[in-house]
Parts: sequence; C-alpha cells; structure tokens
Amino acid sequence: MFANIEIKEPIEKVADDWDYLSDRVISRFAAFRASGHNIFGLRRRVISKCGTQDPKKGSVGTHLSLGPQGIVVGTQPPLSVRITTAGTPHRVPHSFGYWHINDKDELYLQIPGTEEGEPGCAVVIMGLAKGKETDSFAWYCEECLTLLYDFVVETGRDGFNEFWRGEREAVRSYNSDVHKRTCPECGHVNPMGYCWNTAKDSPDESAARKIW
Ligand SMILES: [Zn+2]
Repeated sequence: MFANIEIKEPIEKVADDWDYLSDRVISRFAAFRASGHNIFGLRRRVISKCGTQDPKKGSVGTHLSLGPQGIVVGTQPPLSVRITTAGTPHRVPHSFGYWHINDKDELYLQIPGTEEGEPGCAVVIMGLAKGKETDSFAWYCEECLTLLYDFVVETGRDGFNEFWRGEREAVRSYNSDVHKRTCPECGHVNPMGYCWNTAKDSPDESAARKIW
C-alpha cells in the first residue's frame, strides 16, 4: 500500500509516523484511490453538529438512499459511521449529481477537526469491484422515481480507473439529451446531472449542482 500511494519521501523517513490524515498523505486520496481489496477517499471537510461543509460545494452532510419505500434521508453527525449496503442507489446532494449504484458496501466516517470550525476529514472506504461487479450512474424521476437513465461501467472487469471515465461519459450523455431527463410516466423534466469533481463542471452543470 505504501508503494501505491507514491509519497515523495523515502519510505524509511515516513514509516514510523505514518498517518493517513497528515497533509502530505491525505492529498493522495483526495479523489478515490484503489489499494488492496478496497478503495479509499479522504477529504478535508469542516465537520460539525451543524453538518458537513465542503469549501467548493457547500453543505454536503445529507445522504440519500433509495429503498423500497422511496428516498431515505440521512445525516451524519461527527464521529459517526454510516454504511451504504451493496446495491443501494445513493447520492449526496451538491456533491455528485447522479445516483451511484455499486456491488460493494461503502463505509463513511466523519472525523471533526480539533477546534470548532477547523477542517476535519471525511473518510470513504468501499470494496473494490471484482469480476462481474459494476458501478453505475443512474437518474430517477424527481417526482415519481421512475428510472430514467442508467449508465453501467464494468469496473470489476476493466478496473477502477473506468469509474471516472464512465462518470464523465454518463453525465455528458444524460445532459445532452432532454429525452433522457424526461419522465415517460409523468412528463417531469429532471435538472441536469454533474460529476463529483467541481473542476469538471460546465456552466450548466455548476448551476445544476446548486439545485440538487
Ligand atoms: Zn415521473
């Protein structure tokens, strides 16, 4: 795992005080990084009882899951652990503009900073897809939850790097065709989708990120 992280210092210099949350390490996990059987994401966030704030996205403390009874709204207080089980469509408003569906469980841990208002760390750990397991980027009608579009990526077969390529392609495809965003059941037109990384936002996607 040390080798995969590719820190700049020689390993002998850092092995004794290895800390994933130190500034020299955490940036290596700012997106997602696959290592061993898992994928890790470590992100600087301001985590407090009032919620979780991302400097670029605003409030990102609400987790939505889609279950048999419809959308379940969850929040995550500091020092709590949250798990999304495999197969459950889930999303975080203003953070990624699609429902993520994968074949592995995901664990989220919120570690607050030492002082109120100081940046802490949001940790995401999920299993690495293997074999026929996939990741998909899906959109449901906002009004009636009819599935409108589902873009599947063969991450188990093709590797986790396909995740980001697939995400960009899924969002582009969904946004470029209003028919994909129009509900065949009720006629509602969904807002556009957007990627996880704000740097990828077009002006339309940036506007959509503020909406949902
Ligand atoms: Zn509908």
